[in-house]
Amino acid sequence: MGRNLDPQCKQCRREGLRLFLKGDRCNTQKCAMVKRNFAPGVHGPKQGSGGASLTGYGVQLRAKQKAKRVYNILEAQFAKYYEKAVSKRGNSEDELFRLLECRLDNVIYRLGLGSSRRQARQLVNHGHFQVNGKKVTIPSFQVKINDVISIKEKSKKSPILQQLLETRQNKEPVDWLDFDAKEETGKVTGMPSLEKQKPAFDIKAIIEFYSR
Ligand code: SF4
Repeated sequence: MGRNLDPQCKQCRREGLRLFLKGDRCNTQKCAMVKRNFAPGVHGPKQGSGGASLTGYGVQLRAKQKAKRVYNILEAQFAKYYEKAVSKRGNSEDELFRLLECRLDNVIYRLGLGSSRRQARQLVNHGHFQVNGKKVTIPSFQVKINDVISIKEKSKKSPILQQLLETRQNKEPVDWLDFDAKEETGKVTGMPSLEKQKPAFDIKAIIEFYSR
């Protein structure tokens, strides 16, 4: 499967927003957005960043690009999420948000078991996690209510996971996930909703982009 190989900090500078793509480094003064908060490229400093002066199509395009970068998803898969969201009966914005948030790599990141979504995806690919006791290596796997996410017994000894378990307390929780620190398991207790969770991108503009 293809991967987005664009330099991560450049992606943040393009969007004018910290996308937290590099884990712990993103919360330090080393973050490129601290010193170079303008779009990359020779005209970047003049243009600023984040497309503040855009209108219409440009706004919609930037919103979609931002969401793809946040979740580290390529165009084809993102377009499929849109198709799926609009084919459901509910509100398309809510459905799209749910599909993105319920990806297993995002859930691992939200539980604090990956310092970035990119790292979470890699850990899933390497088979460190189970859903309801079964190993899952597909980052796009969709979790459901009452699913239990655990670390494989053997993987608990991995220095990376040990460190993540130690530092995960600093993680801001989301209301639809619970983490049992004693059992070292996460549980899906609800579904993500736009009412309670504000994404860093304009989801309405994304729907408008694809429905042009
Ligand atoms: Fe983005 Fe993190 Fe790089 Fe800062 S350090 S620009 S938040 S990827």
